[in-house]
Amino acid sequence: MNAGPIRILLIEDNPADANLVERYLGQDSGDSGFQLEWADRVADGCDRLKQGGHDLVLLDLSLPDSDGAQTYETVISGAGRVPVVVMTGQNDGEQALAAVREGAQDYLVKDRVDADILVRSIRYAIERKRIEEKLRVSEERYSLAVTGANDGVWDWDVDAGTVYFSDRWKQMLGWSAEDVGQDSDAWLSRVHPSDLPTVKQQLVDHLAGRTGHFENEHRLLEKGGTYRWVLARGLSVSDKTGRVIRMAGSLTDIHDRKMTEERLLHDAMHDGLTQLPNAALFRDRLRVAIAQAERRQNYLFAVLFFDLDRFKVINDSLGHAVGDRLLVAIARRLLSFLRPGDTVARLGGDEFAILANDIDDPRDATRIAERIQEELSLPFDLGGHEVFTGASIGIALSSTGYSSEQEVLRDADIAMYRAKSRGGSHHAVFDETMHRRAVELLQLETDLRRAVDGEEFVTHYQPIVDLKNGRIQGFEALVRWRHPERGLVYPDEFIPVAEETGMIVPLGWSVIRQACLQTAKWCGEVSNRNLALSVNLSPRQFAQPDLIERLLEILRDTGMEPSNLRLEIIESLIMDDARSAIAKLGRLCDLGLQLHIDDFGTGYSSLSYLHKLPTHTVKIDRSFVTRMKPGGGQDEIVETIVSLARGLGMHVAAEGLETSDQFRKLCQLKCEYGQGYYFSRPLDSEAAGALIAENPLWRPESGE
Ligand code: C2E
Ligand code: MG
Ligand code: MG
Repeated sequence: MNAGPIRILLIEDNPADANLVERYLGQDSGDSGFQLEWADRVADGCDRLKQGGHDLVLLDLSLPDSDGAQTYETVISGAGRVPVVVMTGQNDGEQALAAVREGAQDYLVKDRVDADILVRSIRYAIERKRIEEKLRVSEERYSLAVTGANDGVWDWDVDAGTVYFSDRWKQMLGWSAEDVGQDSDAWLSRVHPSDLPTVKQQLVDHLAGRTGHFENEHRLLEKGGTYRWVLARGLSVSDKTGRVIRMAGSLTDIHDRKMTEERLLHDAMHDGLTQLPNAALFRDRLRVAIAQAERRQNYLFAVLFFDLDRFKVINDSLGHAVGDRLLVAIARRLLSFLRPGDTVARLGGDEFAILANDIDDPRDATRIAERIQEELSLPFDLGGHEVFTGASIGIALSSTGYSSEQEVLRDADIAMYRAKSRGGSHHAVFDETMHRRAVELLQLETDLRRAVDGEEFVTHYQPIVDLKNGRIQGFEALVRWRHPERGLVYPDEFIPVAEETGMIVPLGWSVIRQACLQTAKWCGEVSNRNLALSVNLSPRQFAQPDLIERLLEILRDTGMEPSNLRLEIIESLIMDDARSAIAKLGRLCDLGLQLHIDDFGTGYSSLSYLHKLPTHTVKIDRSFVTRMKPGGGQDEIVETIVSLARGLGMHVAAEGLETSDQFRKLCQLKCEYGQGYYFSRPLDSEAAGALIAENPLWRPESGE
């Protein structure tokens, strides 16, 4: 309002009435605080209003250019925010009330007005209009803010038990005004059952004054039957005694954000291909299980760990797309029989792990392992490719007493390797000895690396006897490790590790070189006669691309006669890639070398390709020879092998020959060569040299 006098526009056609008003407002007495302006027609009044600056309009309803309702409608709309007080001639309550309802601040009946009444009415009208205006602005601001924020609004009258829900509140969830009641149940009955307890708890906490405000994210039922994520905020209002009488707040739609969050979280915790939990989530769940096991005495869980047999072969031969499809199909099969509380995860590549929670008995874990093996042994039909796989499964049980998930996974891994070492699809439960063994193996590997560099290896020689004449025909070179602390270590203990780590390659070459040098020396100096040398060629060594060059180099350097060198290979060497292996063996033969199949009879069915191999001799595995006991009845196997080899034009050697009885029988079977403790144990080069010089002769004693 202006600081100066209150400016009043009087719209009145009757000069007498106008004069009266003028007088009441003290216009005749100079400084009255009012400044009166007079218009005698509605049109004139509206023109003046347009110019602005008025604080109030005093309006007579019956004017020459307008009458009654028409008058106040025109003026009130023209007045805008300027308050209007209506004056009527007669006491027409109806019309006056209508005017007030339309926006007039007050109405006065002319013949009942005096100066006091008029002045008070004017002052009240101005003041009321000012407050109204303030309220309107504030409400407008509030409603703009709410609409702008796109939030729903709720207002709970605690005493009345009613809740006001704004249209937006309802629209957000697709409900119409009639669908939603007017009490708190209209809200709470739509909260997702899993969210309801926390919503209620937080409401109670806020109403009891334990929290500064109410804020909760929960899901609300949409009209379509689905749930939508919302954020509800609110504040309570208390009366003077501190009792809550009202609580109001907003409802924000956070569904999209929640969904994005959930998806990101899901993606971070799951494997993109199979949608199974990934390693991170698996470790999380494992941590929870460990904590559980620490708290609850009889709580038992198991972790099963495995990778797929031949997955690399499937991937390489049928392509990655088929490999991927296989992984997805396996995930599906695993999920089909596991309990809902169990976790099956893809840890990466072809590695899977299962957390079986709260099992009753360790046997439950082995039963799951058997079930996995059963499922995996059934063929997978991957778009025209029928694929078979299998798995060796390692199991760790919580009864071992774990404090970290790494320990559990480590032990399951160790157990898996133990299961694998048994060959085929097996499972193994971890126990302490496995751990010790794993540590020992690690130690062995470290020692072995050092030994290869430091040349701690010596070669021993075991004579191979020509059974036809009982004379030494040659030697097999057998490596030994002169361990600085443990003394002489035998190959069974370190060859597998050397093979696995690749250290067999440098080790193998150094043995072959040493043995060739020694044999060439014996041939030249000591006996001056032909001696054969058998060396063991590991699969890893055989796979080296420079195999032929290395051999030629050694033969040249040592002066070893190629026709005197025999390479002992094992059957599995041919299994992996038969065609290229056979070609390579052919080239070795072309050099003039002989190929012997070692440990014959222990490998896979070699008969199918045996005739294709350019091999010279098969060496019957010592397990068959050992079983040739008097009355043992196992001679047939040896007999069969001998006749088979003969049919293929090959020679036969027997290893592990320990008794005179075996010697005699092998002679009878016309087995060409024999090697074993009966003749001599493997000897160091000095003792072997002495044996050559001695030139012993062995004859089978006639059987008694
Ligand atoms: P292998 O090639 O089958 O060698 C024969 C094994 O039988 C030798 O064991 C030998 O000492 C043992 N043996 C010989 N006669 C008898 C007998 O009458 N009774 C019994 N019980 N055993 C007998 P060793 O020396 O412990 O070698 C074990 C294996 O280690 C070898 O089996 C061979 O596969 C591997 N190996 C040894 N030296 C080398 C090498 O320099 N390179 C490669 N790659 N492997 C080697
Ligand atoms: Mg051998
Ligand atoms: Mg052997």
